[in-house]
Formats: sequence, structure tokens, C-alpha cells
Amino acid sequence: MNQNYKTTGIIIGKRDFGEADKILIVFTQDLGKIQVKAIGLKRALAKMAGHLEMFNLVKLELIKGRSFYIVIGAELIDGFTEIKNDFEKTGIYYYFCEVLSKILEENVRHKNTFAFFLSVINKLNQKDSNKAILTIFFELNILSHLGFKPEFLVCVGCREDIGGHKFFFSQERGGVLCESCGEQDFFADLLTPNAVKLMRLILARDLNLLDRVKMEPDIPGEVKKINGFFLEHILGRELKSKQFLNF
Ligand SMILES: [Zn+2]
Repeated sequence: MNQNYKTTGIIIGKRDFGEADKILIVFTQDLGKIQVKAIGLKRALAKMAGHLEMFNLVKLELIKGRSFYIVIGAELIDGFTEIKNDFEKTGIYYYFCEVLSKILEENVRHKNTFAFFLSVINKLNQKDSNKAILTIFFELNILSHLGFKPEFLVCVGCREDIGGHKFFFSQERGGVLCESCGEQDFFADLLTPNAVKLMRLILARDLNLLDRVKMEPDIPGEVKKINGFFLEHILGRELKSKQFLNF
């Protein structure tokens, strides 16, 4: 007898498999990132096909096959329609999913990371969410959840407290550099004091705090650029969906 698994997951990727089947990449609460085979989905079998759309939050019933889990039951919890009806938000969601499918190891449980991701998606699904801030929030904190937390409190060069007015960011060393260390580092990027403040606030992981963030319009752009490069540096490859982000 095959063991049955019940879990909740978000569909972060999808590809064809053979004539009629699909392989879904699902980030689940209890099993981590898994590959799930959905048999006969292209034949639009039953109403299960509609529940197993990209981005959906679903309750899944699975059995374990030889190379994949196989879905035997699916029930929609949330389709995140506010995101799907907004072109820009859809692009952001795609980007998040690409990051997750590349950064998460398969079959490794990440319960806290799952809860974190779901809270970000729920926020993105709200009408008035700040897309740029939320993207930065996701990027910095996903890294932090998986053990790559960038350092923004002390200089990653001399380990002194950060003071002064001029800062740099080093992807190589994973954090902020003071003026004197930064000027000796050819590869470090210049960072404004307000950007450093924003990074610190974001790493506090409080989504509610973000609603009260007020800042000059060019700050998210600056932080976004640095984070994007930093993520790619850690992943060791380019993120294709970054082009969908318009800020
Ligand atoms: Zn220093």
C-alpha cells in the first residue's frame, strides 16, 4: 500500500510531461518543495485541473510514486484573484516563484519559510499593497530564512558599527561596508543612508510596519537593484523573470 500524504501547498511551477500529464512544482507546508505529477490534467479531467493552476494555494492529497508524488485529490483554498487580475502583480508573483524554485532544495521541509511566503502573497493580494517594498521584503527575508541574511548592522569589512554618511554594499561579503572599507573594495556598490535604513527595517520582518514606510521614490529602485544582484550572486545564476519587474 502506498502511503497517503495530505498537505497544503502553493503551485510555483508547471511543465508538460508526456502527452497528457503535467509536473507541478509545489512549495508545501509539510514536505517542502516537491515535484508532483498530475495525471491526465491536459485532458481537463474533472474539476481538479482548475484547482491546480499556477499560483494557487491548494489542499493536496498525494501518494508517493517512484520519481514523483502523484496527486489524487486537490481542493482550492485561494486563487489570489487580485494578483491574477493585475499584470504587474502577476509579474512579481512569477519572480517570487522563480526565486523559490531555484533557491529551495527539493524535499526539505521549510515550515517557517512557507508561512513567510504565504504572508507575503496574502499581502500582495491586498488592493493597496506597495509592490516595490513588498518585493524587497520578500528578497531580503527569503535570504535570511535560508541562512543568507545580509548584514546591515556592522561593517562586513572591519566589523565596526556603521556610522557616517557614505555606505557600500558588497555582494561578495554579503553586507554593508563602511566608507573606508567600501572605498578599498572595487566591486562594492554605493548605498545611500536611507537605503541602509530601509534594509534594516525590512529585515525586522514585520509586514505591518511596512505600511507606514515613507521614503523618496528612488530608494526602492536602488535597494531593488542591489538585492536582485545579491540574490543572483547567491543562486549563481540569472533570474529570467526579473524582467517582469517594472520598478
Ligand atoms: Zn569597515
